[in-house]
Amino acid sequence: MAFDIEMIKAVYANYPSRVAAARKAVGRPLTLTEKILYAHLTQGEANSPFERGVSYVEFNPDRVAMQDATAQMALLQFMQAGREIVAVPSTVHCDHLIQAETGAEADLKKANDKNKEVYDFLSSVSNKYGIGFWKPGAGIIHQVVLENYSFPGGMMIGTDSHTPNAGGLGMIAIGVGGADACDVMAGLPWELKFPKLIGVKLTGKLSGWTAAKDVILKVAGILTVKGGTGAVVEYFGDGARSLSATGKGTICNMGAEIGATTSIFGYDSKSEIYLRGTERGDIADMANTIKDHLTGDEEVYANPDKYFDQVIHIDLTTLEPHINGPFTPDLAWPLSKFAAAVREHGWPAKLEVGLIGSCTNSSYEDISRAASLAQQAVDKKLVAKSEFTITPGSEQVRFTVQRDGFLDIFENMGGVVLANACGPCIGQWARHGAEKQEKNSIITSFNRNFAKRADGNPNTHSFVASPEVVTAMAIAGDLTFNPMTDSLLNEEGQSVRLEEPSGLEMPTKGFAVEDAGYQAPATDGSRVSVLVDPKSERLQLLEPFKEWEGIDLKGLKLLIKAKGKCTTDHISMAGPWLRFRGHLDNISNNMLIGAQNAFNLETNKVKNQLTGEYGEVPAVQRQYKQHGLGSIVVGDENYGEGSSREHAAMEPRFLGVRAILVKSFARIHETNLKKQGMLALTFANPSEYDLIQEDDKIDILDLADFKPGKPLTVVFNHADGTKNEIKVNHTYNEGQIGWFVAGSALNLIKEEF
Ligand code: SF4
Repeated sequence: MAFDIEMIKAVYANYPSRVAAARKAVGRPLTLTEKILYAHLTQGEANSPFERGVSYVEFNPDRVAMQDATAQMALLQFMQAGREIVAVPSTVHCDHLIQAETGAEADLKKANDKNKEVYDFLSSVSNKYGIGFWKPGAGIIHQVVLENYSFPGGMMIGTDSHTPNAGGLGMIAIGVGGADACDVMAGLPWELKFPKLIGVKLTGKLSGWTAAKDVILKVAGILTVKGGTGAVVEYFGDGARSLSATGKGTICNMGAEIGATTSIFGYDSKSEIYLRGTERGDIADMANTIKDHLTGDEEVYANPDKYFDQVIHIDLTTLEPHINGPFTPDLAWPLSKFAAAVREHGWPAKLEVGLIGSCTNSSYEDISRAASLAQQAVDKKLVAKSEFTITPGSEQVRFTVQRDGFLDIFENMGGVVLANACGPCIGQWARHGAEKQEKNSIITSFNRNFAKRADGNPNTHSFVASPEVVTAMAIAGDLTFNPMTDSLLNEEGQSVRLEEPSGLEMPTKGFAVEDAGYQAPATDGSRVSVLVDPKSERLQLLEPFKEWEGIDLKGLKLLIKAKGKCTTDHISMAGPWLRFRGHLDNISNNMLIGAQNAFNLETNKVKNQLTGEYGEVPAVQRQYKQHGLGSIVVGDENYGEGSSREHAAMEPRFLGVRAILVKSFARIHETNLKKQGMLALTFANPSEYDLIQEDDKIDILDLADFKPGKPLTVVFNHADGTKNEIKVNHTYNEGQIGWFVAGSALNLIKEEF
């Protein structure tokens, strides 16, 4: 369907020469990851070797994908950029806001009513600016992208952490914040720290109960939730080539759980089968002409230890099915050891619900293999002991598996088919009784199982496994059941066994769909109006931030001196606030409410310098704003670590904070602050943090001479009339100083356009 063949042609036209130039510059054979990264460097970047884990490098991604929750602020910002159309092919996917309650039809209808204003906005803004729009019910972003847009050797950014799913089809696909998406759609390059490389060599072949999911469950156990941080995980070997493209997608998708920047497989015959099966034979034809470049060099895979920073070897032939959890996806248990672990730890053995599907595991292959077990249950007169739900990943998959009878099989087993959406995977699950917070167990084929994620109950023990194992467990209703060795009693009291699951990689009759749920953008968007109700609580058009007034900033109030960890979650909390992520004014009421005040060690309680009283951080700041007074936030080490959400930079800017002065920044947040026209400053001497007093008024001087590498001067004017003058550092380059002067990066882009 809506893939962009001209764009892919252009990428492939330059790809071989760029790879050859990179190989020459680096002076050695290249991994696949390096090839794709080098092929997407901006023109300004020399083809020189970059230091892994150190160099920051600029790229030109080929595509942008956005889910509905994060797309709102990304597109509100994009509207500020003054562009008539997006610079690269982009899509929006309505998947996160649909709550699972009774079943697909009713749940979708309810979501369409409840989220109407958000969907109307996303649909109209997409229509105007040349963005493909996938309606509610069309499917989950990563499955839809895999079926329609991913292509070998491409580079994509997406405003969702499981964007790496597209690595299953040989694409470097990375999750980012909305501000990055906005920049790339506006035609700016995108910056990434050149990643470290972890190689995973797969040998042998999967069989029986073992599925692709078990590869990543095993890898998560080895690397833990932090082991992939700053790294790309590249899979290779004959075992890799034996996996279906969608199985590879599952592995790459869940690579987010080990903190990996992304994960990737090379192009092979399975990729070709999938491309042709999803009506993209022309991409397969083109990929075949450069296929040697769409995988790592032979020498690399022959001697991986020489070229990767870390190498892991997994033999698929001997790999056991795994179950990971509870509460963390890296607690990996081989199936044969799981029952003992359940007993030993006292986890509830009774299984309440089994949930299959999600973007992670909703391929035709997954559903067909799970259905083979459900059919056995029906045939052998086994009644499923647990509740069982199925969330197809896309309308195309749903329609096809319905046509081929699999959904009927699940329903015969007592399963409930949910909407093609995230649902329970993102906590959009009206699970009855969850509010009682009872200790209980569920098992899913999703990717994340942190406490409260699925149903909000901190006592729900959530385990992750392949769809096959989830289905078998739901039939048994007992977590100590091992389908490979144990029998079950059927309705007639007979002891029966489940045979190994079987399935099909691709539908023999091909995929089919009546209405995939896609809305193509208008060919001329100039007359399309973007729909935002001015009275909306959830959406608000942005106003450009004011340009710098051209003078030093004097008499800034100290808003808060934050102590210790201050992540983007402390600065802009999630949970119920997510509802307001398209409304900057309303969401700003969560600004810094999680940060600890260094003077009283309390959260959300700071001194209002105008009244001398203590108040909530956003309320105090709103009063300063009302009086036209600027303020400053002081922070500790690694300020702004965590998710890349741009709200953490936009909210202080919106409420009138002028500078953030800290011991050190998390890089992404520092860049986000710069983009919003804020001053992001660091103490030259971290101990000077201690000089700041609660009633200080602060001056930032030398701004007329704001230059790269040149420190600025900051004066703390204390209440007793004394003062301290210090030098502070910054990392602004010329362009970024331009952002500060213009009031924001978007203001500058607009001026230049
Ligand atoms: S299904 Fe789950 S993991 Fe996938 S995009 Fe939705 S919330 Fe994220």
